[in-house]
Amino acid sequence: MSISPTALTIGIDVGGTKVLAGVVDSEGQIIFRVRKDTPKNGGPELVQVISEIVNEINQDPKFAGQIKGVGLSWAGLISSDRSTIIDSPNISNCTNFPIGKLISEKVNLPVIVENDASAALWAEFKFGAAKDFNPVMFFIIGTGMGGGLIVDGNLHRGYSGAGAEFGHMIVQKDGQLCGCGTKGCIEQYASGSALLRMARELIQERPAQSANLLQRVENKPENLTGNILTTAARENDEIALAAFKRQADWLGLAMASYTLILDPQAIIIGGGVVDAGDLLIKPAAEAMVKYMPFGKDRNIPKVLAAKFGNDAGLVGAANLARD
Ligand SMILES: [Zn+2]
Repeated sequence: MSISPTALTIGIDVGGTKVLAGVVDSEGQIIFRVRKDTPKNGGPELVQVISEIVNEINQDPKFAGQIKGVGLSWAGLISSDRSTIIDSPNISNCTNFPIGKLISEKVNLPVIVENDASAALWAEFKFGAAKDFNPVMFFIIGTGMGGGLIVDGNLHRGYSGAGAEFGHMIVQKDGQLCGCGTKGCIEQYASGSALLRMARELIQERPAQSANLLQRVENKPENLTGNILTTAARENDEIALAAFKRQADWLGLAMASYTLILDPQAIIIGGGVVDAGDLLIKPAAEAMVKYMPFGKDRNIPKVLAAKFGNDAGLVGAANLARD
């Protein structure tokens, strides 16, 4: 299927609490938005909610006849034919669920579904920080840690569709328990939740230096948030800076190992951690060089912050629906 360059597509970011939809043009601009709650029962009810959004947009006179496809960005494992959810930890009743086909039947448009990290990388590759790099690797780091990879202009999905899950490389034997069911994944050491855990560990390890940080959370380490930690680090709080350094060290270690395998020209870092900017990205890039196998003799990839914020998955999925 090939779509006229002026045609519009709909991108939909399907999350555990919200369904965010947008009409997107060929330049990646969102020209119309809709937001609905994700139904608690997921599955068929979610098909209904998404189909209604698409049909309402499609019947709107200002878009009449212009919508040519729908792309869903989904946090989960997706089949390599971009149609079936294999596993979806945050949304009920979607295991082995042929959502693309079910929605397509109700909206009479082609529907594809893509892993959210891969969709976000696609937006960066077409319109953002990943443009013109080959291969280009992507870490999307928020509460958890997703991954994406583009080689020769194509998203790498692997044999089953579950490829490029860079957050779940095991870096510590019998380490921290991970949401994926195994232990010691890099997600447990380099994600936003890991950063908060490390800050709490540092408070215990170095009580004498922790007064400033504790004051910011009314002496309750459980009240720490990414924002509080970022502000404290920017104001040179020792413990907050040490927590970012610990997270960055693990991320750098992972980037060095992946570079040995994939030899990317650039590594893009996106997600909530981008707000911390150089608190994370600069020390992570330095740690990568420190850990790089054959360090002196090999290419060192560029490490860059993503350009898109929360819209990355929506814009990427909409663009992928243009193929
Ligand atoms: Zn894991």
